[in-house]
Order: sequence, then structure tokens, then C-alpha cells
Amino acid sequence: MQKNTPFVNPRRMLEKAHKNNYAVCHININNLEWTKAVLETAKETNSSLILAVSEGAAKYMGGLSVVYHMASNLLINLKVDVPVALHLDHACKIENIKEAIELGFSSVMFDGSKLSFEKNFQLTQELITLAEKNDVAIEAEIGSIGGEEDGIVGNVNLTKIEEVKKMDQLDICMLAVGINNIHGFYPKDWKGLDFGLLSRISDSTHLPLVLHGASGINPEYIKKSISLGISKVNINTDCQVAFTNAIREYIENNKDRERKGYDPRSLLSVGSQAIKVVVKYFLNLTGSIGKN
Ligand SMILES: [Zn+2]
Repeated sequence: MQKNTPFVNPRRMLEKAHKNNYAVCHININNLEWTKAVLETAKETNSSLILAVSEGAAKYMGGLSVVYHMASNLLINLKVDVPVALHLDHACKIENIKEAIELGFSSVMFDGSKLSFEKNFQLTQELITLAEKNDVAIEAEIGSIGGEEDGIVGNVNLTKIEEVKKMDQLDICMLAVGINNIHGFYPKDWKGLDFGLLSRISDSTHLPLVLHGASGINPEYIKKSISLGISKVNINTDCQVAFTNAIREYIENNKDRERKGYDPRSLLSVGSQAIKVVVKYFLNLTGSIGKN
């Protein structure tokens, strides 16, 4: 059933990226300015991408319906003519997934990484019928991603090959892997991504793979991970840091005291410009610039 949503199911984007050795950018949004900056960048660069929102960020913005209506109206009013997906990121609560699908989100991630593999597999499987009925993509996760993102705290738990082979039998759109990747900042003594494991995972599944925690990773590692089967790269921390640093500079340079510099629209627009730079950087790095 085709729902009345302006967002596209990212399955085609992911399959195209997977086949042609590039990755789609998944950019987390945190407020209105953020969403606008990401959508404007997609339009300016003619690049498809995925707008993503965590359960925590959705709650901050006033709920999933606020996010859906804000993002969909921006997409239409800004006349963004490249395919864009709206994705619920790291959803642990099934009721949030159902609400997102009902609203018109075109993609959801079920984060069952805290559950036993059997339970994670079973719940992922149950969601497939609902997703298919609504033309929504499902991202599953096995293993877990370290660090913290919006209250989702995880230990690094490397993905197991036998679990990849089982997940491969489900009709999901993409699979998030734990290959020593971390949300937030990478520690100084970080051992790097486990490329050996990534290549064994790729050999065991036809599914496009997802790299969470792409912020702060050496760009060469990102390119290598794409060559080994990563088809979606998730970015949040780098945008957050760029946004905050730009605003810090504005205040530290007393720009808020010049003319009408105190206007929050002026303050936040420097943050938005900084986000656009980061998004463009990742679109270039992942090879998805100009792909629509
Ligand atoms: Zn993540």
C-alpha cells in the first residue's frame, strides 16, 4: 500500500549504493534549523539522503508527529526534488515504530541489540509484515555499537557471523553491524574498525550494511568500510560539534552584541551553515554527492 507521504522508502537508494560501491548518508536531526540545513544541502547537491531522528530527539522536539509534520512540510515547501527518506533511529519501543509508520516515516530501525539474538530476531520478523504493508524499510541490528547516543548506551559487542546468516533470511532492508564502532567521541586508544570481521560479514549476507558512529572516524576507514559492503553511514556527533562550535565562536566574538545579533535566527543560522559544511563533506566522502 502506498501511503500519502512525501518520503521514499530508502530500499532503492540502499540497493543502488550497495551495487555501485558508495554509501547513502543518514543524518540525524535535532531541531527545525537542523532539518532545514540538511534538506537544503540535499537539494543544492542533488543528493538523496536519509533524515533520521532518534527516540530521544523526537521526544525533545515534541513527539514523532511534530517531527513528521515539520520534516514533510519543509521537504515540500523547500521544493526538495531528490528522494529523501525519513527514518526512526534506534527505536527500542515497538509502539514508537508503529506510530512512526502510521505517520508516514519511510524507514525504521528496530534496535533489539539489548535483547537475546532469538528475541531480537523474532521481533524484527514480526515487524516485517507491518513494514511491507506500508512500504517502509526496516533496519535491524546485531552485535552492538559502543558509546552513548540519546540515552542509548551500548558496549562494543561484535557482530557474530552465524547471526548475520540468520538475519539474512529476513526481508529487511539493511543491517547495522558492530565492528568496534562507537557513538559519540572515539577514545584516544581506540583500536579502529574491525575490517576482517566486516569482510566476513559481507561475505555472509546480501544485505546492505550500516555503519553507526561514523563521526570522528578517519576518512580512509570510511572509504575502506564502503568498499567492504557498508552502504549507509550514520552521522550525528560531527554535526552537533560543528553546530555548537560555530555558535560558540559567534558568542565569543561578541557577534550577538552587534546590531541585531541577539536575534536567535542569526545565532542559529551560523550553526546551520556549519551543519551544511559537514553534510557536504560526508556526501563527498561516501560518494553519494549527486546520486539521486
Ligand atoms: Zn546509531
